[in-house]
Amino acid sequence: MMLNFSVGPVMSADSVREIGAEQVPYFRTSEFSELMLENEALIKKFAKADDGARVCFITGSGTASMEAAVINLFTGQDRVLVIDGGSFGHRFVELLEIYEIPHTVIRPAFGYGVTAEQLAEYDGEGFTGFLVNLDETSVGVLYDIELISDFCRRNGIFLVVDSISSFLCDPFDMKALDVQAMITGSQKALACPPGISVIVLSEQAVERVYRNRPKTMYLDLKLALKNAERGQTPFTPAVGILRQIHRRLLEIEAAGGVDAEVARIGGLARYFRTRLRETGLPFAPVSHALPNAVTSLTPTNGVSANDIFLRLKDEYGIWICPNGGELKDTVFRVGHIGALTERDFDVLLQALQDLRNRQLI
Ligand SMILES: *Cc1c(COP(=O)(O)O)cnc(C)c1O
Repeated sequence: MMLNFSVGPVMSADSVREIGAEQVPYFRTSEFSELMLENEALIKKFAKADDGARVCFITGSGTASMEAAVINLFTGQDRVLVIDGGSFGHRFVELLEIYEIPHTVIRPAFGYGVTAEQLAEYDGEGFTGFLVNLDETSVGVLYDIELISDFCRRNGIFLVVDSISSFLCDPFDMKALDVQAMITGSQKALACPPGISVIVLSEQAVERVYRNRPKTMYLDLKLALKNAERGQTPFTPAVGILRQIHRRLLEIEAAGGVDAEVARIGGLARYFRTRLRETGLPFAPVSHALPNAVTSLTPTNGVSANDIFLRLKDEYGIWICPNGGELKDTVFRVGHIGALTERDFDVLLQALQDLRNRQLI
């Protein structure tokens, strides 16, 4: 069995995997509706959304919900600021381009978050929307959401946050931050199989959804909202994964709720980073604003990051997370999400030290 330190899909708890082995039930039933209403209530609670917020469960990976958010919440009349600090930020930019929504791109320096000075440039400029991936997972940078939230509040801007890899990992309070929509997905810290993404909508966002007329059927959130009133979805959802999410949400709640889960994942991230420094392995951090979900590293001795990924996979049965494109040989990432323990990180560090002893890194 592989030990998985990627950033999704990640390791699931045995209790969640057991549900995956069961027959998938028929879903137009009061039992499934009840489960979905509980899913909605727990997601709202963990996102710290206001009472009037609503939740849509989309069958599709995180990008499906990014696309749904863009087309249901913005129109050609909007002017959107979007942070492009890596491949996920770039995905939002591409969506805005495809749907011809006027936008301006903010590019943080590589490995850094967005700064107050960068945002100040856009004060009073009439922007109406803001799109950000709270944790830009591709480089492992956590943006300063307080800073962004203040900017949006000051300018009356509608703030939409992709928290796909930060939900359950880093502190987040949708209501206090005036976030109008937040997105997450099943295969990150929810630690379930991929296939479901989730959009939490504030009351104001729900109003926007009912006003807009996006040219789409599957991703029209009006249908999702209408059906969700009775715990249903417009089309056949990934029923099995929604049942696994239910189990996982109940377990997080039983273990102390979202704050306890954030503390647990933060503890694993600190454990790995501290132990790694102690080993003196030739890796430097890439990010100057580390999220709890992932540590991005660059080899300082010219060894290919992708070679390290391949060796760990093929010779040690361990997955770390490679980077693509330009960063393929310079950056790899170690995830801290999923059913992992400190002992698992010891195994990874031992494997890396073994590669060092073999003079391969
Ligand atoms: C994983 C992730 C996504 C979603 O990617 P999918 O492959 O479509 O699930 C989007 N944004 C961020 C920040 C992510 O980490």
